Amino acid sequence: MAEVVRVVEEEARRRNARVKEVRLEVGELSFLCEEQLRFAFEVLAEQSDVLRGSKLVIESVKAEIKCEGCGYEGGVRYADDFAYHFSPPILQCPECDGFDVRIVKGRGCIVKEIVIITS
Ligand SMILES: [Zn+2]
Repeated sequence: MAEVVRVVEEEARRRNARVKEVRLEVGELSFLCEEQLRFAFEVLAEQSDVLRGSKLVIESVKAEIKCEGCGYEGGVRYADDFAYHFSPPILQCPECDGFDVRIVKGRGCIVKEIVIITS
């Protein structure tokens, strides 16, 4: 989150503007808890002259995988639901039950949009 705030800050400073709203896309597989993000954002924004009072909008992105075995592309199946909250889940192809899957979407956290006010 500190990295996100730093990028947003730089962008705003370069334009000599204040930030009104930050829109984040958070992937299902990024393992970032929304509440933690909000809390971190508030703390960091409060310390920043260009970010103070800005709003954080979080959009979650569904994960998508591609199976190297059968070529399936789409939603994820978790092999072990129970362990999901404790460790990264084991991903499995819902078509062929293979484990040779690649994540194509839903990993990480990106800044989608920054709404700024130019003074
Ligand atoms: Zn498959």
